[in-house]
Amino acid sequence: MTEGLTLDGAMVTGAERFSTFEVRITPDAAEVDRIYMGLSRAGEGYVLYGPALKAEGYSTSLRFDDASDDVAVPAVDAVDGYVFFGPADHVTDDAHGAFIADPELSAELAAPIRDAFRSSMEFYQARLNLDLDYHPAVIASVDSPGPAIFRGDVTDTGVISVRFTGDSWRGAEAFLAPFVWHETFHLWNGHGIQNRDGESAPWLHEGAAEYASIIGAVSANARPEDQGRSALAQKTNGCRRALASREGGMSSVRSGSSVYDCGALIQWIADLELQNAGQGAFFSLWADILRDARASDDGYGVTEFMTALPASSAVRLLVEEEGEIQWDQIRARMTDLGVTFVNDPGAGDLLTAALFHIARQNCSNGSYGFYNDPGALRLDGADCGPLSGEPIIDTVEGFDPQQQSAAMFNAVQARCAASLPIRYQARDGRVLEAVCDSPLETPEVWAISEAPSLRR
Ligand SMILES: [Zn+2]
Repeated sequence: MTEGLTLDGAMVTGAERFSTFEVRITPDAAEVDRIYMGLSRAGEGYVLYGPALKAEGYSTSLRFDDASDDVAVPAVDAVDGYVFFGPADHVTDDAHGAFIADPELSAELAAPIRDAFRSSMEFYQARLNLDLDYHPAVIASVDSPGPAIFRGDVTDTGVISVRFTGDSWRGAEAFLAPFVWHETFHLWNGHGIQNRDGESAPWLHEGAAEYASIIGAVSANARPEDQGRSALAQKTNGCRRALASREGGMSSVRSGSSVYDCGALIQWIADLELQNAGQGAFFSLWADILRDARASDDGYGVTEFMTALPASSAVRLLVEEEGEIQWDQIRARMTDLGVTFVNDPGAGDLLTAALFHIARQNCSNGSYGFYNDPGALRLDGADCGPLSGEPIIDTVEGFDPQQQSAAMFNAVQARCAASLPIRYQARDGRVLEAVCDSPLETPEVWAISEAPSLRR
């Protein structure tokens, strides 16, 4: 801080009048929640969050001095979001945007991010045919101070930051490209455009980005179609699980993964309905919404989205329902649109359904679970009668729960139907007998057996 002046909180004060002052800032020591980092490192360069330096009641602009070899990206309006400044060799630029990373950054991390950025920018630009107000950039770094192992965010300058803490990205490679495809869609539907319902109905902009990332990557040959389908099946199941336990459909969905799951399902239904009616499809729908939003003072919101759909749209069964969601109706409507769901619970679904069903009947305080450690499935729960004490379980009704969960499930289902006890063989030699006197239902986990192509 300049001598004679004090910085207290967000206020600079001095005994005399002053017209200039200096503040020295250092990189933030920790990632905190969803708050933008004020200053962070990216290789040999820095990423600064411009709004943190905005002076209240004054117009603020940023200028980068004293670094003849360094560059600043973006070069204009940097005060409105993230700006990178650092060595020019960290920046590779083309017509679609800038990719920024330390040249020493592992190619296993840099390449998928760079490729997804380039192909998603090119793809969305072609499908939406709307120019952006800024020249976007993605910054990839492993310099996050933690404790979060990963954080990705986008600011109004069109800069996407993807920050990992050290080597924490290893093992997460498969998720890099979908993440980037999702974020680049927000450059169109989330930044530099007004979204009236961003807080009250986040499923609209998040669902659109999520669905765009799935069908976009499939259409651009960046992801196999069957992966796209299983991603949509997962989202449908996630939404069903999330809404099963509450009344009131989407009005209650404000945070967590249900925003993305239900949001993507809604966009999928809308896409299929429009295509079926010969009224375009997902990208022409969003091109229209976003073009109109730019031309109006109100931006866009749920009203514009719903108005664009057929009057009888099945989306209304999710968005306008105030009671219990009628999944059988939604499923039937999707069948009419060419999507066939079959019930196909996986090994993990069967394992969880069986163990939780028994635990529910034996654990008196309602708190239970299990640790699925490789080769050693261990029960959790203190007040679980014979199943208390966190025993490691080798077999249930003679079947290894980790290796033979379908056979175990069937055996447990038959025993429960006859109200017979379930026999757990513990690793310490004991046979634990747990009560089961209510029928074990096969869990509903849908898979897609048939669906129209996801290519757009
Ligand atoms: Zn998002």
